[in-house]
Amino acid sequence: MDKKTQYNFWYFIIALGLILLFQTWWGAGQQVARIPYSEFLAALDAGQVERVAVSENFIKGKFTAPRTPNGPVFFSTTRVESDVAEMLEAHGVIFDGEIESNFWPNLLSWLLPMGLLLGFWWFMFRGIANRQGGLGGMLSIGKSKAKVYVESDTGVDFSDVAGVDEAKAELEETVNFLKDPKRYGRLGARQPKGILLVGPPGTGKTLLARAVAGEAGVPFYSINGSEFVEMFVGVGAARVRDLFEQARTHAPCIIFIDELDALGRARGGPGMGTGGHDEKEQTLNQLLSEMDGFDPRKGVIILSATNRPEILDPALLRAGRFDRQVLVDRPDKTGRLAILRVHVAKIEMSPEVDLEQVASLTAGFTGADLANLVNEAAIVATRRDADSVALDDFTAAIERIVAGLEKRSRLLNESERKTVAYHELGHAIVASLLPGVDPVHKVSIIPRGIGALGYTIQRPTEDRYLMSKAELENKMAVLFGGRAAETVVFGHVTTGASDDIEKATEIARAMVTQFGMDEEVGQVTYESPRRGFLDEQLMPRRAFADETARAIDRAVRNALDTAFGRAVAILSANRAILDRAAEKLLVKETLDQDELGAALQGATLPGGEAG
Ligand code: ADP
Ligand code: MG
Ligand code: ZN
Repeated sequence: MDKKTQYNFWYFIIALGLILLFQTWWGAGQQVARIPYSEFLAALDAGQVERVAVSENFIKGKFTAPRTPNGPVFFSTTRVESDVAEMLEAHGVIFDGEIESNFWPNLLSWLLPMGLLLGFWWFMFRGIANRQGGLGGMLSIGKSKAKVYVESDTGVDFSDVAGVDEAKAELEETVNFLKDPKRYGRLGARQPKGILLVGPPGTGKTLLARAVAGEAGVPFYSINGSEFVEMFVGVGAARVRDLFEQARTHAPCIIFIDELDALGRARGGPGMGTGGHDEKEQTLNQLLSEMDGFDPRKGVIILSATNRPEILDPALLRAGRFDRQVLVDRPDKTGRLAILRVHVAKIEMSPEVDLEQVASLTAGFTGADLANLVNEAAIVATRRDADSVALDDFTAAIERIVAGLEKRSRLLNESERKTVAYHELGHAIVASLLPGVDPVHKVSIIPRGIGALGYTIQRPTEDRYLMSKAELENKMAVLFGGRAAETVVFGHVTTGASDDIEKATEIARAMVTQFGMDEEVGQVTYESPRRGFLDEQLMPRRAFADETARAIDRAVRNALDTAFGRAVAILSANRAILDRAAEKLLVKETLDQDELGAALQGATLPGGEAG
């Protein structure tokens, strides 16, 4: 429901309320008692009737006084005798004749429900039209204001967006331009027409666009690309035309097209096969021609956001359209700290909480994840009836978000518990002994959501950009610590290690094909080194000989086998400590950093390990 419909709706409700109020007030003054004719005669005899009006079928009148306290003073009754005049005269009652007319009451009884029905229907229709843009658009032939959202004040500014300083710096200029387009154009500086915000979901792209409008104090016109998906042919194009028309008359302002990829998918590309094809193409064409046809010096800037820039139609990215891209990436530790500060301002937090610690525990979280984390922490604190949110609430919330909701109900049987305990401690022991590996913060065998039976939380001390070959090898050994423990202790392996193996394989592959860390394969890039959210979209490129492929596979395999061998050696050498710690873990279910340190006291690297 847009604002206008909402207002109309409230007018409607208020009007209805007024009518009802008036009716009851009117009715109260005019309350009429329906009495039997016999009672009327009795009242007449008792001299209680002041005057009457006699019509063909009814007698209406007024008593001299209400017959019950607060009762009605007016009455009506059905006229039974044809001649009442004499009788009335005999009792000295003032009387008059009346011509029966049902015109007004009749008309009212027709009009009122009809009006109500009309109002209701109108309201419902507005609601439906709003929800299914298509219907409204179709019936109002191209005038589809319904789904164009305009906010004259978005209520957020740059202080609400944290941890994306580079993107903010790039948009600063746009803000200045919007504040005073004329002065800016004076020197001939040309603004880009369209700016595309690119980044993974939840990093604050939508928020940033709204903040630009808020910071510049201009209206914010927005539509969402995904809204165009289920529309009738022609409606989307009409809406785009409408949006630009409205925006042009309100410059300076911002037009924001969220989730551009839903609308601007490459034409003729995959997913364009069915029904929506023509519609999307028309809408996209309309967007392109609108963008070409306006002059940015007038003060309209088009912002857009997407997390899949690679599937956009190339025509959108051409000069004079979205020719500037701003990367909004996942925040690093300082960024996360800044974002946390923004969000904890809204909750009651204990002053002892070290947000820096929270920030270092949340590597890889996006802004949206962090907002969610703060909220979860507040919920945890509320549940334990605390006055303020403490660090423990944050760690509990982190665990919940990272590993899924705690599922105590899903109990493991005794032998599974034992396997999981050894597996997790295997990770922990290897991690505690090898240098350059994130220290272990906590080990647990409480089952969490899907995928992770137990878990080991490693606390990264810092964000790493450079890692040595030895560090990567140690990382792989830690990942194999779980399976190595199963092998050493039980002599069998389980499915619990599939995730570890996958991660280790990823590292080994990258070492061989991207980082040039294998002697046989050499220092050649065999795979695109681009990392991050773009990865998933890229088809693996194969530009090497079959022999090379074999050599790569061999090298990856070697690296993994070596890592596994090291983990097995370390755990065999510390078998007694492993057993003792497992016993403790099986009792306590979780071991925190201190408990773990105590349990692993005395563990050492075997002779072969350099350390
Ligand atoms: P996107 O559009 O990139 O998917 P949103 O802008 O919708 O992400 O972010 C969702 C929510 O997450 C925001 O409303 C905000 O509460 C929080 N958030 C995301 N990024 C940030 C950030 N950089 N600073 C502060 N809050 C953020
Ligand atoms: Mg968004
Ligand atoms: Zn594991």
